Amino acid sequence: MSYSAPRRSKRRLKHIEVSTSGSGELKVEHGERVENERGADGEQSTIKKEEDRESDYKRIKIETGIAAMRYARAEDEDLESSDAKQPKDWYKIYNEVALMREHFESPVDTMGCESIPNTIRPGLSEMRPQVYRFQLLVSLILSSQTKDEVTYNAMLNLNRHLMDRGFEDGLTLEAVLTLSETEVDGLISKVGFHRKKAAYILKSAAILKETAGSDVPQTVDEITRLPGVGPKMAYLLIQRGWNINDGIGVDVHVHRLAQMWRWVPKSDNPERTRLALQAWLPRKFWPEINPLLVGFGQVVCVPRAGNCDICTLATKRLCPSANRSLANTPLTPDRIAKLDKGRGSIKNLVLLNNLLKEKELF
Ligand code: SF4
Repeated sequence: MSYSAPRRSKRRLKHIEVSTSGSGELKVEHGERVENERGADGEQSTIKKEEDRESDYKRIKIETGIAAMRYARAEDEDLESSDAKQPKDWYKIYNEVALMREHFESPVDTMGCESIPNTIRPGLSEMRPQVYRFQLLVSLILSSQTKDEVTYNAMLNLNRHLMDRGFEDGLTLEAVLTLSETEVDGLISKVGFHRKKAAYILKSAAILKETAGSDVPQTVDEITRLPGVGPKMAYLLIQRGWNINDGIGVDVHVHRLAQMWRWVPKSDNPERTRLALQAWLPRKFWPEINPLLVGFGQVVCVPRAGNCDICTLATKRLCPSANRSLANTPLTPDRIAKLDKGRGSIKNLVLLNNLLKEKELF
């Protein structure tokens, strides 16, 4: 292989050092340094960069304490096993979002519907799967047009109230049926459309008691016959409650981001987005695409104005909708502090982006 040795040049880099102290506090320092633009040996430098990248990612993870790879990456066989209608380079976006999601926590991770029952009572899905399924159903009914944090608090209220009334497992089908609609409404009064939802919860519990042995059914058809339960909820319910992977739960974030990345045609109907996604996305990603994109949409690509200055999809020029002006604006301490007051801590993501920009690892 032949190559021309790149011109060795120097340049000044303005940079921001972002690090975390032992107490988890964010430290930001501005500076300027001079470094070689390219090494004398282009090939060697590329290999070194890859090694640096790996070790830097590990260092960030060790320093920040978020280490687990939470979402699968698309591998070669995933690309080959899918049909030819896949959007170009979808997996690059998917894998990049999965990488970013390792660097921040979002409300959906602990207060999303499928997480709430286990957050309130760790291990519930294993210890009491039937109770977990009912709590998941109630969480899903409450979550419509309501933030995860508000849904979580309503679920806490229901659980505490019922435990105080002597029900050891808190919110169960039998326990909630001892409450009046007014009592349920009072306990969930912060969620949107709480009056209607109080009625839906009690009616659903009564229907399940009458027709399904007091358990949640295993099919989308049966579940969507319950009042206040749509297809998104039903697919999530059978995925998490029964481990049945029959469809993608498309919420507002999945719907918005899939259109923005041109993965699906423009539409105002989430059902169309679900069918379009299912037509090409390998099935193994169906259960995780919801929490993956929801968390990303809650913290990084928030509705109306995404935070492109901390998004590696902008840094790596993978997003067709990136705000380049914002992406190219250096992060200031004020901006970082403002971002960190959002719905999830972004300090690790700033570290990741800082590394990418500083080391030209993209
Ligand atoms: S619009 Fe910006 S924040 Fe959203 S995915 Fe694209 S680059 Fe990231």
